[in-house]
Parts: sequence; C-alpha cells; structure tokens
Amino acid sequence: MSGQEQKARFEIGMVGLGVMGRNLLLNMADHGFPVAGYDRDPEKVLSLKKEGQSHDVGGFGTVEEFVGSLKRPRAVMMLVPAGAAVDSVIEGLLPFLKQGDLIIDAGNSHFTDTNVRAKNLEAKGLLFLGVGVSGGEEGARHGPSIMPGGHRDAYERVRPILEAASAKVKGEPCVTYMGPGSAGHYVKMVHNGIEYALMQLISETYDIMKRGLGLDERELHEVYRGWNQGELGGYLMEITGDIFTRKDDQTGKPLIDVILGVARQKGTGMWTSESAMDLQVPTPTIDLAVAMRDLSVFAGERKRAHSVYSRPIKTVEGDRTLLKEKLSRGLLAATVIVYAQGMALLAVASKTYGYDLRLEDVSRIWRGGCIIRAALLEDIMGAFQTDKELPNLLLDPNLAKKIMGHQEDLRFVVETASRLGIPASGFMVSLGYFDAYRSEWSPANLIQAQRDYFGSHTYERIDEKGTFHTQWLKS
Ligand code: NDP
Repeated sequence: MSGQEQKARFEIGMVGLGVMGRNLLLNMADHGFPVAGYDRDPEKVLSLKKEGQSHDVGGFGTVEEFVGSLKRPRAVMMLVPAGAAVDSVIEGLLPFLKQGDLIIDAGNSHFTDTNVRAKNLEAKGLLFLGVGVSGGEEGARHGPSIMPGGHRDAYERVRPILEAASAKVKGEPCVTYMGPGSAGHYVKMVHNGIEYALMQLISETYDIMKRGLGLDERELHEVYRGWNQGELGGYLMEITGDIFTRKDDQTGKPLIDVILGVARQKGTGMWTSESAMDLQVPTPTIDLAVAMRDLSVFAGERKRAHSVYSRPIKTVEGDRTLLKEKLSRGLLAATVIVYAQGMALLAVASKTYGYDLRLEDVSRIWRGGCIIRAALLEDIMGAFQTDKELPNLLLDPNLAKKIMGHQEDLRFVVETASRLGIPASGFMVSLGYFDAYRSEWSPANLIQAQRDYFGSHTYERIDEKGTFHTQWLKS
C-alpha cells in the first residue's frame, strides 16, 4: 500500500461539524467506522478531535487534506444549512473529488434543489444522495431516523454505516432506501410538515387546559405524562410532559411561562404546504400549523387586537376530568387525521415524481429516532402492510375504528374551545377535513355553478357524462 493510500483510510467524511454533523459523525465512530470531519471553523474541528479521541476520528482544517484522507471511492456527507451553503460546499469539494465518488446532502434541502444537484453531479461522473435525517441533536448522536433518496447503488455503498448509526425499533434499523432522486428529502419534508401540525395540536390542548381549565404546570406535566403512556405516546408527548417540570434559572418561575409565544420557522412546514398545493392534495392541518406560527409572530398586532376585542376567556364549568379525557381522545382522532393528510400527500407525490415510495417502509422508519415517532405509527405501518395502495389512512378499517370511537370527542373539543374563546384552529380544520372527506355529497356543486355563472367555466352533471354550460343570465 502506498503512503498516499495508507493516509486515505477513513470510511466516510463529514462537512459541517455543527449540531447535527458533529453528533452524527461521532455516532458513526461509536459503531466502529473510521470517520473524518471538516469545518471551516477550526474550533469545531478541534472539538471534534477532542470528543472523538477514544475512536478513530480524524479532523481536518482544509478540504484538500480532508478529501485526501477518505478511502476511495469516497463518501462525503454534508450537514450544513439548506440553500447556498450546500452549493458552496459542493463547489469547494469538486476540485478534489474523482469519478465515482459520492456526495451526500443530509441537511434539510428543498427537494427541487436536490433534483438539480443530482443531475449536475451525475453529469460530472459523481454520485449524489439526498438524505433526510430526523431526531435533533440527541437523535444524531444516539440514533436518528434516516430517509435516503437518490441512486440505489450509492445507497448500498453507505448502507452499513447508515444502518449502524440509525435508531432501532424491535431490532430493525430506522433507515431504508426511499426511492430515486429527491425521494429522501421529500419524505423528510413531509415528516416535518406532520411535525408542525402535531405540535400545533398539542399546543392547543395546552391552551385549553391552561386558560380553560386553569391547570398549573405540575398538573399539565401529569396530564401529558399520562397521555404519553397510552395511545398518544410518542416523542413529542414525552418532551411536552418534561417541559412543564423545568424552572427558569433566572426567575425560578416555570420556564414555559417566561418563553415568548412567538414561533418562527425554517421553511420545511411551509414547503410541505406549498408542495401539497402544487399537487392539489389537501393538507389543511399542516397549512394551518404554518399559518398559526406566522400569526404568532405578529405579537404587536395581537396586543392591539386584544384590547379592541377583549372578551375574557371563559373557564370550564362542569366535569373537568371528563374534559381532559375528551381532549385526549379528540387529540388522538386529530393526530390520525394529520398523519392521513401527510401520507396522502406522499402517495400522490410518489406517483407524480416517480419516487415509488413504500409507505409501509416510511412508517416503519418513523417509529424510532425521529421527532414524530409515536405508538400510532405501528397502526399506520399495519394499514400500509394490509393495503400497499391505500390512498388515505382514513380508509383503513383499524384506524377508522379509532376515529369512529373518538370523533364525538373531537367535536366536543371544537365546541368547547369555540365557546370559551380559545383558538383551537388545528382541531377545527382537522374536524372540517374529516367531515368533508367522509361526505359523499359536496357543496362544491354550488362553486361549480358560480364558476359557470361568472366565467363560463362549465360543470359536470350527476346524471350525464360530458361538460355543460348554462346561460345563467337568460330570463
Ligand atoms: P449548525 O448551524 O449547528 O451547523 C451547520 C454547520 O455548517 C456549521 O458548522 C457551519 O459553520 C457550517 N456552514 C454553514 N454555512 C457554511 C458554508 N457556506 N460553507 C461551509 N460550512 C458552512 O446546523 P445544524 O447542524 O443544526 O443543521 C445542519 C443541517 O441539518 C441543516 O440543513 C438543518 O436544517 C438540518 N437538520 C437540523 C436538525 C436540528 O435539530 N438541528 C434536525 C434535522 C436536520 P459556521 O458555524 O462556521 O457557520
């Protein structure tokens, strides 16, 4: 072996040693893979070397040395912010890469950017994977859910590393090949859209219990902890319970009470909604969750509107324990509805973009490691195991039973919140979607009549094939 070849011994390299990159790389090293890292910030390279000293971890301060340290054909992963940073990292790598080397973008890139990058890099003889990673810092360090898309052979090359680093559920790795092109980034985007909607629903239950029932943080902790032990169990429920136990170091108050109610976004929820609109797939709870984050940002206007429309929030009279139970069952129904919207979007995107997604596999790898992991995903996976072509989870008999059992509770939550004056728009649109989806008759006949009236857009009839137009102004 030449000196050069001896130096080129790391199995995989990581560009971007921030929260996700550093932790994922150390996770791979924990599993026995020799790994190399590069960051433009020398401090980050130093701290990688320090943290990784008990493993085979290399840290490099120049792209040339970094690339030169990797076994050929090389595999370079990057975890940098989406957008221009990804292109600039690729540009920086290109002069040092050779035909057959593989670049993996594991950040939250927009799927259309991934398609362009894959095409450009493949034209240069390089392989490219667009990989979604979920699980935050903790997941990256100890086992995330990983959603790889792109060239199948390229995936096979890094499969052992990704499988080793991923979370495991019942011994199964939370990673599998999603599909060609941008399939991985698309699935990750929809994961995040679902995440937005679930967080919105949980925050609405918090509002109802805090302002409607007057629960304090200790009681809220107990409620969410209890919910986490049942059918609603999942990572988001678990952390929500924990959040109410934390005190603020500065004031000694519950930390939640000193956090400003303004939620910003990095884009993935909005991208999900945009894509759903493009594909004409209804995902109203996800759309609403994005809108509510946007609304929260208008803090000054909300303050003004509060003084204009002040109407005290009413508190719940009657059986408070019953309300909490109804809230939990209503939340379960709304949660199924959210997953139904996200999965229905994936089903259509898969056909439109040729991803050939197996929704059973998507649900399987979401059961562990990722932010939306939840007990319910076992049932969701089961639904797609039974019917691979299921267009909407609401049509699965097992999930339908859950919703049928809980739909009156969902209505009760919506009615109660509306009466109290507490915004529960996530619950409202989820119920609206459900009622519209389960209705054979639709009032869209009136919309068609209006469109034909003012714009001669024509309509179809219930009793005859073809398109029809009426001269509405004729007496
Ligand atoms: P960080 O900000 O912690 O780290 C990003 C790293 O990329 C930093 O080391 C940064 O260096 C480097 N970087 C930024 N711009 C450039 C550039 N133009 N050229 C080279 N390096 C650059 O981000 P995260 O680790 O949190 O996120 C990385 C990716 O992972 C993003 O796409 C994010 O959306 C995604 N992601 C994040 C999750 C999370 O929970 N944090 C979860 C799942 C995905 P410097 O500090 O010098 O700017």
